[in-house]
Amino acid sequence: MAQNGVIVEMKSLNNNNNNNGNYGIRVSWDSELGFYADVGDEQLWIDVLRTTLEYGLAPVSWTDYLYLTVGGTLSNAGISGQTFQHGPQISNVHEMDVITVIPEEEIFYCVGFLLSSSGYDECKILDNQNEEILKYCDSVKWVRLLYDDFSKFTKDQEHLISIDGLDYVEGSLMLEQSSINNWRSSFFSPSNQTKIASLLSQNKIMYCLEMVKYYDDHTSNTIDEELKKLVKGLKYLGGFMFKKDATFVEFLNRVRSGELELQSKGMWDVPHPWLNLFLHFFKKKILLMYTNLKCRWDDRMSAVIPEEETFYSVGFLHSSSGYDECKILDNQNEEILKYCDSVGLNIKQYLPHYKTKEDWIKHFGKKWNIFQQRKNQFDPKKILSPGQRIFN
Ligand SMILES: Cc1cc2nc3c(=O)[nH]c(=O)nc-3n(C[C@H](O)[C@H](O)[C@H](O)COP(=O)(O)OP(=O)(O)OC[C@H]3O[C@@H](n4cnc5c(N)ncnc54)[C@H](O)[C@@H]3O)c2cc1C
Repeated sequence: MAQNGVIVEMKSLNNNNNNNGNYGIRVSWDSELGFYADVGDEQLWIDVLRTTLEYGLAPVSWTDYLYLTVGGTLSNAGISGQTFQHGPQISNVHEMDVITVIPEEEIFYCVGFLLSSSGYDECKILDNQNEEILKYCDSVKWVRLLYDDFSKFTKDQEHLISIDGLDYVEGSLMLEQSSINNWRSSFFSPSNQTKIASLLSQNKIMYCLEMVKYYDDHTSNTIDEELKKLVKGLKYLGGFMFKKDATFVEFLNRVRSGELELQSKGMWDVPHPWLNLFLHFFKKKILLMYTNLKCRWDDRMSAVIPEEETFYSVGFLHSSSGYDECKILDNQNEEILKYCDSVGLNIKQYLPHYKTKEDWIKHFGKKWNIFQQRKNQFDPKKILSPGQRIFN
C-alpha cells in the first residue's frame, strides 16, 4: 500500500442507490454499443450476475468463483473456461473510470499491476468488437470426459477450442489420493465415483476434460444431438463420459457449494498457496489446466501471457491445514518454478509474485519497456502499488 495513502472501503459505495433499484450495477442499451453493464468495482461478480439476469442477460467471460470483486479480478485478468472464446474479463471491458490526477486515454491499459492503488471507480463491461457481450441461456449441458493418456487429453482440448460450438472448456488432473468430487464442484454421482475410483486405483492418475454447452427452450430439442457431434472422434476412455444438466446460474456458481461446505468444516479460511501458470507445453503433470488462445487477449494490456498462439492455464490449487503445511507447499511451488526454469519452459505466472526487480523484468519480457514508460508517465514518483516491489 502507498505510504500515507488513503484506502476506500468500496463496499460502502454499495449504499448509493442509483435510482434504478440496482446498487452499483446498471444495465443499459446503446445503439452503437448494444447491451452493457455499468458496474462499480466494489461489486461482486455474483451480484453482477444476479442483476444482469433480471434483464435476461449475463457477461460472457467469468472466473471459476464468483464471490470476488470486479476491481480485484480486473486487476489481474479474470480467466476461466470461457476465456478461449471470449478472452479474459479484461478483454470484455469497454471503459473504466480511473481515479487519478492524469487524464490520459492510455491509462486504460495501465490499471492493475501498474496503478492498482490509484483506484478504479466504475467500469463498463462490454466487448471491444461490439459483439454480443451480455448473453444468457437458461440451462447448460455439463460434460466430463476421462482420459488415461495425457497427450490424447491435451489434443482433444486443443481440438475443442478450435471448433465453434462450446461455451466452456477446462480440464483437471485426478490423482488416486485426491477426492473425485472436490470443492471446485461436486459433479459425479456416488455410483460414478465408485466406478472412477476403481479405475484410478489401477491408473494412479487420470485426466478429466470438462466442457459445457449452453442451451435454451429453442435449442433444447437439438442439444443432445449437437453434443454427440462435438464429442465424436474424441479419444476419451470408452464408458467414461459423464453428463449432467444444470441451470446457467448453478453452473457459473458451482464453486459456492464447495465453499460453504468447507466453511462449515472450518476448512475454507486456511492458507491456499496456489500457483497459476501460463505455459506453452508440458514436461510434467499438473492439476488444473485449460487451453487459451493468444488472439483473445489484448496485447496492449499489462497482463502477460506466452508468445505462442495456443497456451495452457495451469493451476496448482493447494489447500493447507495450517501455516506449517503452507510453508511446505510454498517450497513445492518454488521447486516447480525452478524446474520450469531449469528445463527452459517459457512460463508466465498468472497472479505473479516476485521479490526482485530482475524477476519482474523477466516476467514482463517484451512488455517491460512500455510498462516502465507508463509508470514514469502516470506515477513518476512511484507512489502507487509499492507492495508489488516492481519499482520500489
Ligand atoms: C477462491 C478463489 C477463486 C479464484 N478463482 C479465480 C479464477 O477462476 N480465475 C481468475 O482469474 N482468478 C481467480 N482467483 C484470483 C482472483 O482473480 C484474485 O485473487 C483477485 O485479486 C480477487 O479479487 P478480490 O476481490 O479478492 O480483490 P483484492 O484481492 O482485494 O484485490 C486485488 C488487487 O486489485 C486491487 N483492486 C481491487 N479493487 C480495486 C479498485 N477498485 N481500484 C484499484 N485497485 C483495486 C487491489 O488493490 C489488489 O491489488 C480466485 C481467487 C480466489 C480467492
